Amino acid sequence: MTIYDKYEAVIGLEVHIQLLTHSKAYSSDSAEYGALPNTHVSPVTLGHPGTLPKANKRVIEFAVRLGLALNCDITKENIYARKNYFYADLPKGYQITQDKTPICTGGQVTIKDKNGSEKRVNITRIHMEEDAGKSIHDQDPFDSLIDLNRAGVPLLEVVSEPEIKNAEEAYSYVTEIRKLVRHLDICDGNMEEGSMRCDANVSVMLKGSATFGRRVEVKNMNSIRNVKLAIDHEIIRQIDLIEAGGIVDQDTRSFDAVKGITFSLRSKEMANDYRYFPEPDLQPVIVTQDYIEKVRVSLPPLPDELFRKYKKELSLSDYDAAFLTETKSIALYFEDLVSKTKNYKAAANWMMGAVKNHLNENAIAIGQFPISTHTMAALIELVDNGTVSSTVATQTIFPALLASTDKTPLQIAEEMNLIQESGTDALQELVCQALAKFPEKVAEYKSGKTGLIGLFMGEVMKLSKGKADPKIANELMKKELEK
Ligand code: ADP
Ligand code: MG
Repeated sequence: MTIYDKYEAVIGLEVHIQLLTHSKAYSSDSAEYGALPNTHVSPVTLGHPGTLPKANKRVIEFAVRLGLALNCDITKENIYARKNYFYADLPKGYQITQDKTPICTGGQVTIKDKNGSEKRVNITRIHMEEDAGKSIHDQDPFDSLIDLNRAGVPLLEVVSEPEIKNAEEAYSYVTEIRKLVRHLDICDGNMEEGSMRCDANVSVMLKGSATFGRRVEVKNMNSIRNVKLAIDHEIIRQIDLIEAGGIVDQDTRSFDAVKGITFSLRSKEMANDYRYFPEPDLQPVIVTQDYIEKVRVSLPPLPDELFRKYKKELSLSDYDAAFLTETKSIALYFEDLVSKTKNYKAAANWMMGAVKNHLNENAIAIGQFPISTHTMAALIELVDNGTVSSTVATQTIFPALLASTDKTPLQIAEEMNLIQESGTDALQELVCQALAKFPEKVAEYKSGKTGLIGLFMGEVMKLSKGKADPKIANELMKKELEK
């Protein structure tokens, strides 16, 4: 037992999701990433006097999508609020956000805990807000540069209850959210480019304590792995501090990925008072039940539901189900494939094996995979009905199909003379030929070295150029040897 075992950690996450809308949250400026600096900046984005913001409908739709996918309650009357503070990358001097009426409340994210079992983390709220511009400190040796293209780009902020217990759970939580926003097509989930960002609130307390310790907020983790590393580091740092007689300062910290440590950015005593007040330039947005139902029917199958379905109805393993639901396009391809074949396990094996390898080797997504689900289903059938062996299907027909996608697997099998010999007469002939080649070994087999059957079978496969149906050949062989 170490000092660390005396404590437990409490973690709450704030995840910012940059939405894939064409225009900004409250203006018609383009929200596209990667444009020349300061080219997507109109007087509305700058908040010039006399300009008026206008709420982007897609932002509300995306918020409702996410809320429904996470089982949240959707707020009917949404009031926008101003959050006031001064910073060089915030030309208006305030962000338009939501304060008292977040668009979603409640709901849960289902994660895997340390033992691999499911755990639900409750969501406090999801609110709509706009991003600030970007300050660039590392391009000019003397000055900081500002790019306001990002100012006004729509975000959703998902705030969790402080129910996450360790870094692994936090990792799983962020992974699930990323998977979901990608499935919903509302965010590209790219943490490296900052289109998904996560702040981790971390505190520690003695095990079983009823009151939480003082929390620290850690920012600037640009990958899910770094979220995990930062939390692990922060927990140890806080316990060490308490054990040494110190107290945890309620500060905002940043994660240094190179050193693997967190360092203080500012203390909460200097925290801003944002002076929230209702945004006077925007009408409240009313979300009707009718609208909510319309969004609900437009939702794609969710990764969580598919995972359960693949395990229960298709009897696939956790591992297979996880791979197949990780990426939406893969899941949709697989969904289509299993609507055309009943051999689910074979379908999963193709996806996890030859298909995945082909995608990896060529660095392409399933969208660029040239073989249709129809053809893949035909290939599975070709093996199932004994026309070709599974080895011939993977090693010869699959590559040939990649090269000529207009052909059917059967055409290729015929053209390349790959149809399996399962006619017993032809096979019987091959079996006799193979045994005739090894008279001494046959004698050894008969005196008990039954392992030699492998050698004989190898010869049959060789003589048939791989086309012998191994099961039938094996039966014939055994009969022959018993004579
Ligand atoms: P703030 O504006 O101060 O960041 P928010 O309400 O946006 O406050 O977020 C607070 C986050 O901190 C939530 O995710 C919540 O679960 C978490 N949290 C609150 N108290 C603690 C605590 N003692 N330890 C860890 N996390 C906490
Ligand atoms: Mg916060």
